[in-house]
Amino acid sequence: MTVTDTRGPIAPGLAPKKRWLTATVREVTIETPRVRSLVLDVPGWPGHRAGQHVDVRLTAPDGYQAQRSYSIASAPAANTITLTVEMLPDGEVSSYLAGEVQVGDKFELRGPIGGYFVWTPELEGPVFLVAGGSGIVPLMAILRERAAKGALLGAMQPARLIYSSRTYEDIIYRAELEQLAGPGTGLAVVHTLTRGTPAGWTGLARRIDAMMLAEAGIPPDQMPRIFICGPTPLVETVAFTLRELGHSLKLIKTERFGPTGK
Ligand SMILES: Cc1cc2nc3c(=O)[nH]c(=O)nc-3n(C[C@H](O)[C@H](O)[C@H](O)COP(=O)(O)OP(=O)(O)OC[C@H]3O[C@@H](n4cnc5c(N)ncnc54)[C@H](O)[C@@H]3O)c2cc1C
Repeated sequence: MTVTDTRGPIAPGLAPKKRWLTATVREVTIETPRVRSLVLDVPGWPGHRAGQHVDVRLTAPDGYQAQRSYSIASAPAANTITLTVEMLPDGEVSSYLAGEVQVGDKFELRGPIGGYFVWTPELEGPVFLVAGGSGIVPLMAILRERAAKGALLGAMQPARLIYSSRTYEDIIYRAELEQLAGPGTGLAVVHTLTRGTPAGWTGLARRIDAMMLAEAGIPPDQMPRIFICGPTPLVETVAFTLRELGHSLKLIKTERFGPTGK
């Protein structure tokens, strides 16, 4: 989709977080063969909390518009956010954002949206994150925020991430995750690969299951705050299994990205 000048009129009376803002692409990073991160300058951005998302609206020259939700990957900051988008086959919006977009391009977004799937450093207790594919994006905002602010608020609470990717090349933020989980950080990252492993791989190589959640996760008696994000079937299976393992429903938050788990 070609994007024209997308600055639309702002409807009077709408609360600031509902207004469409113009985002300008400042930086494009290739994360994996199918995933790109876009650093966006968004004048007027009101700030956000880790876990929230935005609506993105693209407008074609003939006026046709398409709108999708994208999680915010960056820790809270003024006037800038980062989105990370996976290109889906024939995806109307993702093929633009993760394929064609260039530095300097503009499109509209509004937000931040969502007050439920949110983590702030003031929250007590360990954090247990489970991601599938691009479901890592809002969880990365949590980990970035935890690294940036957690230490300032005293001892960092333990954190665990179980992250399912198709292949090693498909692991988004691989190097940064390794860095965030360095000695003394209290974070452990466990990768599992579902569609093939590279030579010498000694990690997990299956879909997330009860044994993996029990052995690699934070046990229920530590009452971790749990955030699960990814394709709908993964999210539902993991949430159900964690309940079976004894985790409290009240501490489990889920975000579903899409209709399939293919
Ligand atoms: C709250 C929220 C946050 C999201 N955050 C992100 C994010 O940070 N990064 C990201 O890449 N995506 C994210 N998504 C998914 C995103 O909104 C779009 O659904 C996705 O980019 C596909 O849009 P599209 O226009 O490219 O595909 P479409 O043209 O709408 O669909 C193309 C094909 O892909 C299928 N499809 C659509 N969406 C998905 C999906 N998510 N998974 C698998 N198949 C799908 C459709 O059924 C269709 O067959 C988020 C979704 C939600 C609800």
